[in-house]
Formats: sequence, C-alpha cells, structure tokens
Amino acid sequence: SIDQSRKHRRAIELSLQLSDLAVRDTLTKLYNRRFLHEFMSVEAARIARDVTDVEHGRQPEYNASTGVYMVDLDHFKCVNDAHGHNAGDDMLKEAAEALTSALRNSDVVVRWGGEEFVAVTRVKQREHTAVVAEKLRRAVEQMETRLGNGNVLRVTCSVGFCVIPFFPDKPRLLVWEQALEIADPALYRAKAEGRN
Ligand code: GH3
Ligand code: MG
Ligand code: MG
Repeated sequence: SIDQSRKHRRAIELSLQLSDLAVRDTLTKLYNRRFLHEFMSVEAARIARDVTDVEHGRQPEYNASTGVYMVDLDHFKCVNDAHGHNAGDDMLKEAAEALTSALRNSDVVVRWGGEEFVAVTRVKQREHTAVVAEKLRRAVEQMETRLGNGNVLRVTCSVGFCVIPFFPDKPRLLVWEQALEIADPALYRAKAEGRN
C-alpha cells in the first residue's frame, strides 16, 4: 500500500540521518574518522584492483594514485587564547569550508580531531599531490574569519602528505594507515621549518 511504502521510505530516511550523524563531526559537519575508515577500505580495494590489472599486463581500470594529506592549523591555540573558544570554533568551521571548497566533490575532507584535518584525493599523476597540498595551504591562508565584533582573523596551516602506492614498483607495500604515519612526521617537519 501507499501507506506502507511511505513508512518504508521514512524508515530508510531515518536510518540515513542516523548514520549521517554517526559519521559526521557536529561542529564542522565534516566527515569524521569513522567515515574515513569506511571510505579508505573501499579506496584500498580500488587501488588493489589497479595493481592487479598492472600485474596482469592490463590497462589499469582507474589508473590513479591516492593522495593522503594531514592539515594542521598553525598556532591555533593563540586564536583561542586571544579571541576565545567561540572564535576558535568559528575558525574551524571556516577552515572546513575552505578545505572542502579547494577540492573536488569526489575528494574527501575529514576532521581528524581538534584543529587537524585529513584530506584524500585521487590524482592521475603522483606529482599532483604536491599541487593539491599547495591548494590546501593557500585555501587556509586566504580564509577570513569575521567575528561578531567586526574583527577579521587570519590563520595559516601546515600540510604533510603521502601518496599511495608509495613505492610505484612495489605497490602492495603500503596500507593507508601507514600513509598517514608518513604524512604525520612530514607535517611536523613543515612545522619545524617555519609552518604555512
Ligand atoms: P602548531 O602550529 O604547532 O600546530 O600550534 P597549535 O597552537 O595549533 O597546536 P596545539 O596542538 O598546541 O594547539 C591546538 C589547539 O587547538 C589547542 C586546543 O585548545 C585547540 N582546539 C582543539 N579542538 C578545538 C575545538 O573544537 N574548538 C576550539 N575552539 N579549539 C580547539
Ligand atoms: Mg594539532
Ligand atoms: Mg596546530
């Protein structure tokens, strides 16, 4: 009956909303870590398919590498200390928007925690990861956070990134969690070498 199908649809909508809540960060509305795990398990299967294609002498179906980027706002604690936690929250929302807008719809940005974000993009050439990292950096640099009192705050970020497969000739050697473990010290090196 129409009534039953309506009920069924409502149930699906409800479960979708619930699952949306479970995979999104409440402040920024970005996806969270749990979503990233789900997403990367699908992405890893895709990467593996490309590798198998190449091993069998076939044209890889996707023919793409995956860039994984860790983005951390610079001196963010100072924003909270000088302007209050609400201003910090506003800036985090702004950063989420800026990072998302800098990338394609098919790319993913998640709030990894605090003022750290992880982005994942497919790239046709490995070298393009550096271009994407620069895009992310610039998006945050150009961002403006307008406070209730009219003040405008600016911030920069540092980025560490890694490409999967990491070794082109040994494409099965690295899983995405390890890619993050490489991006992380790269991020801290960017911090140590002057940030932004
Ligand atoms: P660095 O350039 O080395 O990254 O310096 P930093 O100040 O950004 O680094 P640190 O990790 O010391 O500080 C992170 C700050 O982020 C501290 C914490 O209060 C703030 N923070 C984390 N989560 C939130 C949040 O949800 N809202 C606000 N307003 N601040 C947050
Ligand atoms: Mg941090
Ligand atoms: Mg920071």
